[in-house]
Amino acid sequence: MRRLRADANRSADTHLIKLRMPAGWDVDVYLKDESTHPTGSLKHRLARSLFLYALCNGVIREGTTVIEASSGSTAVSEAYFARRLGLPFIAVMHRDTSLEKIALIEREGGSCHLVDDAAAVYDVSRELAERYDGYFMDQFTYAERATDWRGNNNIAESIFEQLALEPHPVPAWVVVGAGTGGTSATVGRYVRYKGHPTRLCVVDPEGSAFLPAFAGESDGFEPCGSAIEGIGRQRVEPSFVPGVVDRMCGVPDAASIAAMNFLKTQVGLSAGPSTGTSLYAVLRLACEMRAEGTPGSIVTLLCDDGSRYVDTYCCDDWVVDRQWDLRPYRRVLERAWDTGVWDES
Ligand SMILES: *Cc1c(COP(=O)(O)O)cnc(C)c1O
Repeated sequence: MRRLRADANRSADTHLIKLRMPAGWDVDVYLKDESTHPTGSLKHRLARSLFLYALCNGVIREGTTVIEASSGSTAVSEAYFARRLGLPFIAVMHRDTSLEKIALIEREGGSCHLVDDAAAVYDVSRELAERYDGYFMDQFTYAERATDWRGNNNIAESIFEQLALEPHPVPAWVVVGAGTGGTSATVGRYVRYKGHPTRLCVVDPEGSAFLPAFAGESDGFEPCGSAIEGIGRQRVEPSFVPGVVDRMCGVPDAASIAAMNFLKTQVGLSAGPSTGTSLYAVLRLACEMRAEGTPGSIVTLLCDDGSRYVDTYCCDDWVVDRQWDLRPYRRVLERAWDTGVWDES
């Protein structure tokens, strides 16, 4: 516990960046920049919470091997904390996980166990935990409960404190994606606990199981997983808490990439694709607020930095290979920005 507290003591909070909106908008947009954590993404918070939870539950002790099923970012952050605690760490990941992420995990002293079938990561993690008498961290089950949603400087409390002196200190909307669902659970519970009128919008990419389940349209839907790293899942994860979500918004993959690029060119901020997914919905909600004549603020997250994706989502050839046509979505975004009108037709 002392080592984890000392690490927190050396760390600073992440910035809440205010976007410069076009003149006359009356809707302010903020990005909580989670890319500035030492391990580069919002998973830094989750990894810390999961280690604290496991330590306080007495399930991690001196020498316990920690195992995690991950698409990469959580394992990078957990490897960081495992090293600080002097614990062996194994990440169980799909074979096509980027070499950069594998290198980051190994640099923190972790090892990677790659599997051919993405759906097998949970079972393989459980097997390894048994074999090494270790502990399977299981982010997709415990993210929702490992974080203290009432406060304790969680992401929601931090956002509300940083908004205190703004023109609209209580946001009309907070917009987030769902991977584990942990962030949306924390934000949704926090605003209810504090009695804020803020609504929570969760964005979901194509092929993910969260939105069809939320909309009651799972029958006949074949979830194929997600092409947007960090968000969207093939199954509804146990950590996703639908009751605290006010609205879900499906975002096409090409729209996510167009919005990620828009953020770079229009605002000068480099972010990963899941930030684009959220930003697309943020601009849509902002246009709705303008149409209703309701001033206010909207908050979303800059989940991780574009530098992690220079060879993939940020590379034009790679995007073309995926047959994503960004042009219609770029037009929607530019029109929204220039006129304040949302028109996807
Ligand atoms: C995990 C992740 C998310 C979603 O956060 P959860 O709290 O797991 O729902 C969004 N973006 C990125 C890049 C992530 O790694």
